[in-house]
This record gives sequence, C-alpha cells and structure tokens, in this order.
Amino acid sequence: MKVVNVKGMKANDPAVTYCGRSFGGWVESPLHNPFRKGQKCQRCGKLHGNPQDTIPCYRAYLQEQVLLNNQVILAALNSLTEDSVLGCWCKPNPCHCDVVIEEWRKLQELKNYLVIGVTGHRPDKLGGYDDQTYNRLVDLAVAVFKLKKPQKVITGMALGWDQACCEGALRLKIPVCAALPFPGFDSKWPDAAVSKFGSLLRQCSERVWVSEDKTYSAKKLFDRNKWVVDRCSLLVALYDGSMGGTHNTVEYAKSVDREMLNVWKSWEKFK
Ligand SMILES: [Zn+2]
Ligand SMILES: [Zn+2]
Repeated sequence: MKVVNVKGMKANDPAVTYCGRSFGGWVESPLHNPFRKGQKCQRCGKLHGNPQDTIPCYRAYLQEQVLLNNQVILAALNSLTEDSVLGCWCKPNPCHCDVVIEEWRKLQELKNYLVIGVTGHRPDKLGGYDDQTYNRLVDLAVAVFKLKKPQKVITGMALGWDQACCEGALRLKIPVCAALPFPGFDSKWPDAAVSKFGSLLRQCSERVWVSEDKTYSAKKLFDRNKWVVDRCSLLVALYDGSMGGTHNTVEYAKSVDREMLNVWKSWEKFK
C-alpha cells in the first residue's frame, strides 16, 4: 500500500482511494482527518500549528472508531487491499494516511489470527476406546487444522475428540491451550489413559484449570466448555446431534453467535 499526493490529478480518479476531506472536487472519505491545523482540536484541546501535529489525535480517533465498531469506518478500512493507493494532499510529508495503513495492517493481522476451540463426544459415541478409533480421530483433527491453519487450538482435554485435537495440533506444531475443568478430573480414568493425558498435557503451551476446586461436578465440565467457546473464534465440533455435554456446548456457542464447524459428516466418512 502507498500514499500519493493527489495535487494535479483529476478529481475522484479511480486509480486512488482518496482519504481526505471534501476539497477540489474530491468526495470526502470516511477515513478523512477531522482535526485541522489552526483550530482548537476537539480531541486534545490544543491548537495544532501544522497538519502533521494532528496525526497522534487522528491515530487515537481512528483506533477508537474501530473499537466502537463504526461500520462506515470499518467498511472503508476493509475495502483496502495491499495494492491500494491512498490519496491525500500531504505527501511527501507525514500524513493521516500513514495511520490508515497502520490500522489496516492491524486489522489484517487480527483476521489472520484464528483460535480454534474444540468440542466433541467421548469415545463411547465415536466407535470405542481402541487405538484405531483414536488414531482416526487424530487424522481428522490434523486434516481440519491443515485446512483452517489456526494459530492456536483450545481443547478441554476430555477423552475422545478433545484429546485427539490436542495430539493433532501438536503434530502440526500448533500451540495448544489445555482448558481443564478442575484439578484431578482424570482421577477415575484407567492408568493408560492417565499417562497418555499427562504426556499430551506436558506438551501444551498453556494449561488452565477453570475451577481450582477438586470436587467433581457436571457444572464444572460445562463451565470448562463455556471457557473454551468464549476464547475461540471458531468452534470445531464433532457432534452427532444427541443430547449431552457436546449438545449443551454447541447450544451455548449458538447463543453467543460463535462461528462453528461440525465435522460429524467427515467423521462418518473417515471412521
Ligand atoms: Zn489534537
Ligand atoms: Zn494527508
């Protein structure tokens, strides 16, 4: 992306994305700088002596509009691409367009930062506790993560889909956050399952106990699932539609408008 001075250009030339005020026949841009030199600044209260002095105020203003979800400003920012040529009257001097580019880059980074949360059945609904079923689950998790390319995976580490996703993400060197319902929640598992769990857990980059209290309760399992949903941007579910913890988690995810991908149909082909 670059910034050019539109002086001498035909007004509203489609080769540039004009970012200035209404001037010289150019149509005012939603990204224009509302702070002018020689006027008392509505943001900082000072009198800015030249246009460059308004840039910090413009930066604070633009960041605020993005945070406030200003749809007009966001639409203008989102319409920009790496090839856009921004137009203003300031270049070669520093310009509010430089701030527009900074904020556009930040938005792109956020868009590319995908955190996947997972929820799904335990092995009893997936074909059993055997290694073959588990390995197929891991293969499915790997296929999903290769496609979606998340920067982080959050899993509740239950037996079945949760742990398969942990292993799949680790295999692809994707950082894993283990969200555990309470300390000792694995205490009733068979020895082999406990040692497998321990080995996966040691490889996770983050470990969180959603409740510190050690006593079992179904509510704590659901609180852990909510914790996962609240912290991801995409929930990958392995959900057959039956009632239970996964159903409740999927319903919660819908209630908070979380983007969701149910890979049950793929699993039926996979298994
Ligand atoms: Zn100011
Ligand atoms: Zn400018």
